[in-house]
Amino acid sequence: MEHVLVTGGAGYIGSHACKVLKAAGYVPVTYDNLSTGWADAVKFGPLEQGDLADRARLDAVFATYAPVAVMHFAAFSQVGEAMREPGKYWRNNLCGSLSLIEAAAAAGCLNFVFSSTCATYGDQDGVVLDEDSAQMPLNAYGASKRAIENVLTDFEASDGLKSVIFRYFNVAGADPEAEVGEFHQPETHLIPLMLDTIEGKRPALTIFGTDYDTPDGTCIRDYVHVMDLVEAHVLGLKWLMDGKGSRVFNLGTGKGFSVREVIEHSRAVTNMAVPYEEGPRRPGDAVRLVSGSERAETELGWRPARSTLEAMIGDAWRWHRSGHYER
Ligand code: UDP
Repeated sequence: MEHVLVTGGAGYIGSHACKVLKAAGYVPVTYDNLSTGWADAVKFGPLEQGDLADRARLDAVFATYAPVAVMHFAAFSQVGEAMREPGKYWRNNLCGSLSLIEAAAAAGCLNFVFSSTCATYGDQDGVVLDEDSAQMPLNAYGASKRAIENVLTDFEASDGLKSVIFRYFNVAGADPEAEVGEFHQPETHLIPLMLDTIEGKRPALTIFGTDYDTPDGTCIRDYVHVMDLVEAHVLGLKWLMDGKGSRVFNLGTGKGFSVREVIEHSRAVTNMAVPYEEGPRRPGDAVRLVSGSERAETELGWRPARSTLEAMIGDAWRWHRSGHYER
């Protein structure tokens, strides 16, 4: 069976990717330093504990498994933290990825699927964000991801490395079978914080900014179900294995929801109110991030059928209430 090296396979999106890779007939080999991931989320293939900066360890893992491709999820991903500690983001995300890309190229593993982000576009309110939109990141998270995209382009010229770059909008939800789900420590994302608040684990949710230029004053995001997102990665892997070459795809639905709308939907799904308070804006937040492209649908045949707020909040809620959530 063919192996795929999954960095960050112990994390939220990576663990879901391992599940769908296994279902697609691959052996997902997780490479993770467990700094933010969880060993018990690695359920679908072997775990190789290691750091992206450890080139010798990476070389050994490439030699052991001879993977046909890399899926690179491992990264720090919190906007607020990136504003406070930019060096941490540049070092881990850019330097770590560079070490991985060099190791992959040296091993002749030339199919590379990369987790990028719509944060590379920055704040372009009123502009349709498609893959050719200008990239003007507002924070070190988005800027470090954009830099890695550029590194991949350079390694195509030098080594023939082919990459599928996915720019994620807001990933939410969980495996409907609740084998894996979202668990960050500390948690900073809207939907899991909201569910924690409903369950009484936090006193109140704070809405970060109510004076934005949007219909209800709160930020608008394009939410994608994590299972739809990782299905796109399997399609991206197939794209590369079929020799179709490097390509960038937005992964969003084209539909945006405000923070208040997300709160309202959660009331409908859980039948419980979310205690919340209105707070100041969070530095680094864009007003509106909504994908304006259907490239993934037209070219990859991607169908984000689960990406309704009902399904995302419902599946996240089921995961929260399964025994697996607490760690
Ligand atoms: N948000 C909020 N309160 C929270 C966490 C998030 O109002 O406690 C807002 C945040 O300002 C943004 C949206 O919810 O507009 C989604 O934020 P999240 O951190 O989930 O994802 P991001 O857009 O930063 O990737």
